[in-house]
Amino acid sequence: MKKLDHPVPPGGTIGIVGGGQLGRMLAMAAARLGLQTCIYNDTPDAPAFQVTEQAMDAPYDDLDMLASFAEVCDAVTFEFENLPAHAIAHLAERVWVAPGAHALAMTQDRLTEKTFVEKLGLKTAPFFDVTSADQARAAFAKLNGRGILKTRRFGYDGKGQTKVASADETVKAFESFKGAPSILEGFVDFSCEVSVIAARGHDGAFAAYDPPENVHENHILRRSTVPSRLSAAQVDDAKAIARKIADALDYVGVLAVELFVGQDGSLLVNEIAPRVHNSGHWTIEACQCSQFEQHIRAVAGWPLGDASRHADVVMENIIGAEADAWEALAKTGALHLYGKAQARPGRKMGHVTRLKDKS
Ligand code: AMP
Repeated sequence: MKKLDHPVPPGGTIGIVGGGQLGRMLAMAAARLGLQTCIYNDTPDAPAFQVTEQAMDAPYDDLDMLASFAEVCDAVTFEFENLPAHAIAHLAERVWVAPGAHALAMTQDRLTEKTFVEKLGLKTAPFFDVTSADQARAAFAKLNGRGILKTRRFGYDGKGQTKVASADETVKAFESFKGAPSILEGFVDFSCEVSVIAARGHDGAFAAYDPPENVHENHILRRSTVPSRLSAAQVDDAKAIARKIADALDYVGVLAVELFVGQDGSLLVNEIAPRVHNSGHWTIEACQCSQFEQHIRAVAGWPLGDASRHADVVMENIIGAEADAWEALAKTGALHLYGKAQARPGRKMGHVTRLKDKS
């Protein structure tokens, strides 16, 4: 595995696998630091291609193209986690990749991820491995009447998830996933959802942003609000959870830890995203160093930036046809549009960030 011997200097090239809006905002942050980017995406219409000089359009498991990509990059990162592990390993033999294959493998599979989190002594919803109809039934019997069946891999924005309220429903949901290995989670009656966006540098330095409170609609993030309703002690606990996870993974880059806040105030880890996160977009306007710049700094071996927040803020996603109202939205706050030609229902088209004086 290639290591980073020295920081990537201005003028160097950061490779970003994945050309969606996260890749686009990473590329824009890199440009501000005088770094070049090369974006690798498996379709030609990637939003990030519009903001980078170097781009490669090839399948994510095309080992020859990945080798050519590694050739032009001084460091490589990715903007989504559902990448073939062997493709990342192939890259990592040729160029420094952060976060590395280990962090990716740990977070690609919900069972591996939750088992890892539990071993760190952190709380999660109860979860059970489901690989057969019999196991689905047995797992449901261990819950208190409500659960969510989730495929272990390749789920996002609510895809590969079904709420269940009986053993029969659990079996049906498992069959609807065509028998894909899954986990059954106990349903958490949370008081709210928050996330911690944090960064760990090449030298082990750590910086965490104030946790936003997140509201989802139809399984898609609608709004992130900072500050959340967490107490100062809960904020410290949430940041400490992210640090424990980042340290245990020997992580380099930005990660997001999604948390449920229980009715008793306890913090339960729902999911770890090994990348910049939608609930951290507000950091562009409300912090000195955004999550995107922070990630680029970490990947390039630079010192981490200041993650402190200078304003209260609400970030709202612009989804599907809502983007048609861009002119009205532009009057309401800092508007970001991702350059996507087609506004399909449920597609994240942009976001708007509204600042207020810090309370
Ligand atoms: P996930 O894909 O695991 O992040 O889940 C997406 C969303 O579904 C979460 O943000 C929650 O709103 C909801 N959800 C997921 N798991 C649970 C659970 N065990 N209990 C209650 N709600 C959940």
